[in-house]
Amino acid sequence: MRSDAGNFMSVQFAALSENESFARVVVASFVSRLDPTMEELNDLKTVVSEAVTNCIIHGYDSNPEGVVSISASIENETIYMTIEDKGKGIEDLELAKQPLYTSKPELERSGMGFTIMESFMDEFEVTSEPGRGTSISMKKTIVSKKALYN
Ligand code: ATP
Ligand code: MG
Repeated sequence: MRSDAGNFMSVQFAALSENESFARVVVASFVSRLDPTMEELNDLKTVVSEAVTNCIIHGYDSNPEGVVSISASIENETIYMTIEDKGKGIEDLELAKQPLYTSKPELERSGMGFTIMESFMDEFEVTSEPGRGTSISMKKTIVSKKALYN
């Protein structure tokens, strides 16, 4: 689901929860030239938070030595985004994607991260290999404010 044409960015950062807000802001500022609505921007930030949190607490079991990568590209009005970790991976992807399924109920997770990503984005795809990591690719077409008010 990656686009190779158009504008592109890539960042890597330590798997620390304080970097979640950094990740949200990076993606929000990258997409700003598409002039997203507040709702589109908030949806994208929520999706970034959910995906990055998953990399940190599930992929790396909160080990800060882990590295989280985000790459994104913009082609016309569409943002393509890949968020990945090289952590423990997911054994049963179908189960993991079920609404309300969480492997960490003790941490009071609600098991809604994947469901949120899927509903807020136009396309959403998870690939994962146990012991090697997890990669989430997503895309969303932005209906710019200009289009709404014209
Ligand atoms: P919430 O996101 O609502 O706090 P959650 O993180 O448990 O709860 P999801 O984000 O939907 O829920 O993820 C579902 C399950 O998929 C997780 O409990 C975990 O077992 C697995 N999972 C998700 N992302 C990863 C990842 N990057 N690496 C390993 N396992 C993951
Ligand atoms: Mg989650």
